[in-house]
Amino acid sequence: MAAPRFTALVRSLPATVPFVGPEAQERARGKAFKARIGANENAFGASPLATDAMARAARGAWMYADPENHDLREALAAHHGIAPANIVVGEGIDGLLGYIARMTIAPGVAVVTSHGAYPTFNYHVAGFGGALTFVPYRDDHEDLEALAATAHEHDASLVYLANPDNPMGTWHNAAAIERFIDALPASALLCLDEAYVDLAPHDTAPPLRTDDPRVIRLRTFSKAHGLAGLRIGYAIAEASVAASFNKVRNHFGVNRIAQAGALASLNDSAHLAKLRGLNAEACRQINTIARANGLIPLASAANFVAIDCGRDGAFARAVLEGLIARDVFVRMPFVAPLDRCIRVTAAPAADLAVFAQALPAAL
Ligand SMILES: *Cc1c(COP(=O)(O)O)cnc(C)c1O
Repeated sequence: MAAPRFTALVRSLPATVPFVGPEAQERARGKAFKARIGANENAFGASPLATDAMARAARGAWMYADPENHDLREALAAHHGIAPANIVVGEGIDGLLGYIARMTIAPGVAVVTSHGAYPTFNYHVAGFGGALTFVPYRDDHEDLEALAATAHEHDASLVYLANPDNPMGTWHNAAAIERFIDALPASALLCLDEAYVDLAPHDTAPPLRTDDPRVIRLRTFSKAHGLAGLRIGYAIAEASVAASFNKVRNHFGVNRIAQAGALASLNDSAHLAKLRGLNAEACRQINTIARANGLIPLASAANFVAIDCGRDGAFARAVLEGLIARDVFVRMPFVAPLDRCIRVTAAPAADLAVFAQALPAAL
């Protein structure tokens, strides 16, 4: 039988998966996890207003969703004090990263990111044949000076920065980010991934500017809002950049239930404030558990804590495997020297109690 004529690029790609989900791990293990604290989900749960809105929207699921995401874009625009034309709603940040790669990457185009930063970005770039250059972290932070210098050196078309960072949870303040943007080559587009910004200190995000076509800000309902399973996020960009997404995006990609849930969650600022408080308390508990076991938690501006296990990657991996064997789902950074850490997601006390129980034995 004839094989499909895949492109040379697709034939050359390795069959990588950016993240193996906990469900796949549970199937492989033949049993469920007792604590799901590895994917930076928000187990404190979404706004009840959002779940009610989603239940109502489910009854209308026979209708296609509004492909312009109009009501949500209007609400986001009002929330941020910008115009709806500056907002692109998409299938989570992951989906939007795919569109950005599709808009900017042809085979061989130079892209710069940090070594060990968010792998889904790399996955999308590789899918269009981009040439990635990886800049080492410095002191567990993405290294702004080195990223800018490398972008100049390679004449990069696309640069990625997560602030706060995943997997380390470290962050730069708004002034440092603004200096970084000024230092980038004029022809480079910055993907500024702010997945965790709603949980970060208030001076983490620079003011939104909608006149600069060189920066796309990415936000999500997956983390602080507790709606990871809905698959909805948005980009903030200069209007012509935002409009260009319409050439490549899946116009009906964001479903009705997601649009309704996100809109209701956006309007429940009281619940978001509550989640911020619960998240901070859970991060303190993770710090306490880590220290009680002689480990060093890194300061985090996100909904997880990277815990330095004090030795090399092989040791941290053994700790991770020991936790998984004790039914605790956690993840860890992929590359050295970050991989001396495990990464534990903020969660309700019952989940953290399972972790606290398992950790000494895993060590
Ligand atoms: C969790 C995470 C995402 C994924 O966001 P979605 O909106 O759920 O696709 C993107 N970037 C970073 C840095 C993340 O940690």
